[in-house]
Amino acid sequence: MSDPVLASMVRAMGLETAPHYTAATPNIQAYRNRWVELAPFRDGPVNSQRHEVSDPAEMTKQIKAKAMELGAAIVGVCRLRPHMIDLGADVPHEFVIAACVAEDYEKVLQGANAVEEEAMRVYANCAEIATDLAAYVRALGFPARAHHNGASEIQAIPIFYHVGFGELGRHGSLINEKYGASFRPGFVTTDLPIVEDRPREFGVQNFCMNCNICQLNCPGDAIPQDYVVTHGVKRWLIDLEKCYPYSRLRDEYCHLCVDVCPYNVKSHPESYRTFMKQRKQVGYKTPKSW
Ligand code: SF4
Ligand code: SF4
Repeated sequence: MSDPVLASMVRAMGLETAPHYTAATPNIQAYRNRWVELAPFRDGPVNSQRHEVSDPAEMTKQIKAKAMELGAAIVGVCRLRPHMIDLGADVPHEFVIAACVAEDYEKVLQGANAVEEEAMRVYANCAEIATDLAAYVRALGFPARAHHNGASEIQAIPIFYHVGFGELGRHGSLINEKYGASFRPGFVTTDLPIVEDRPREFGVQNFCMNCNICQLNCPGDAIPQDYVVTHGVKRWLIDLEKCYPYSRLRDEYCHLCVDVCPYNVKSHPESYRTFMKQRKQVGYKTPKSW
């Protein structure tokens, strides 16, 4: 509800919060409670016996291995740049570690609630990983703060880009070569000396120029044809006022733009084809029940 567009749409409906948030299943509520419980532990005392880092490349390997051991599927690091920090927030760290967990794409075959429960399960898992990873870095003698759904001062998408996870797709989410956009993040900001990864491109944006599958399936017609370029990066701007009636202002979750993207086919070929057959049978568009 800190999003001013969402807040004003909710107020226009005469409500205090978005219907989607009050319609949570017990499992979804439990996952949300978990990241709220973890919020007080995102930062803490730093070990005064600092572990000297003579080889930042080795330390980077060590920190990535630790994140994987904690359950991350992909890990990347980069310098924390000003445009990655929320306006007005103070994050006095030099680097950011992104640790992401892949969602089980098979859930798309069980409907919107199953997809949402899976997303919330993964968000809670990411909160655990980020919390534990930040504690691990502080035990090495360096400041570190976890950022996750429970509390965060940083922006996920530019970090994903700079750590080399992939490219922005037409649907507004970042597409990874292996997982599509079906993954969720946790982050740690820190001063631990590490070596940053580089942005990595593998043709997503060129592919999007000739693909309209997310547009075709979006119930709110919120995904544009044309792109804009900001800071040298091509982006398609999702129309939030058209998206929110489907993704926030009704009970059922909407994640269709990500679920129908062909970049899911690599990790889940059979499920993707089955899901797209189902989409075709309903004429792609979700009925506009709101
Ligand atoms: S979440 Fe749904 S409504 Fe929003 S852009 Fe994606 S497909 Fe469209
Ligand atoms: S569905 Fe097609 S156009 Fe949309 S993000 Fe995926 S590849 Fe790009």
